[in-house]
Amino acid sequence: MEKVLRELPNMALEKQSENRKFFSKLKKRPPKNLDYLMQDLHEEEFERTDCLECANCCKTTGPLFTNADIERISKFFRMKPSKFIAMYLRTDEDNDHVLQELPCTFLGPDNYCSIYEVRPKACREFPHTDRKKFQQISHLTLKNVAICPAAYNIVEEMKRKLKF
Ligand code: SF4
Ligand code: SF4
Repeated sequence: MEKVLRELPNMALEKQSENRKFFSKLKKRPPKNLDYLMQDLHEEEFERTDCLECANCCKTTGPLFTNADIERISKFFRMKPSKFIAMYLRTDEDNDHVLQELPCTFLGPDNYCSIYEVRPKACREFPHTDRKKFQQISHLTLKNVAICPAAYNIVEEMKRKLKF
């Protein structure tokens, strides 16, 4: 996995132009069965890819924390939301709450998340490859293929299956 993660940014860069064209066509003509296709591709990929061997999303890109996330996680720590914010979060240029540090403070050396049951919604949903209307988040996916080996493989498989 280490070798894959080392090479992933370059691999994604090489595919960038091809991926841009693909997503532009996908946006214009999304197939009727796209939601089902993405569900299948996502499930097949995550049967092969073990996130515990990777954790690259937790190491390199933090989630944003919604108010509901902050409420839930601070309750888990039996802490006031304001204290949780002061200890772990900062406000970014879009005014969102994000982690003060990367890799994520809650990531253990064994790649387990210490707040897994109450982790932010963005962590639960990453890399968003099983979401409905996948064509609407192409800008995000173009970035995620350089971070997430599973997203990279899913997009490659999409291109093989959907020959525009
Ligand atoms: S909260 Fe957990 S799942 Fe989310 S980035 Fe941190 S370690 Fe990863
Ligand atoms: S979601 Fe992607 S980047 Fe995150 S741990 Fe799993 S394979 Fe790695």
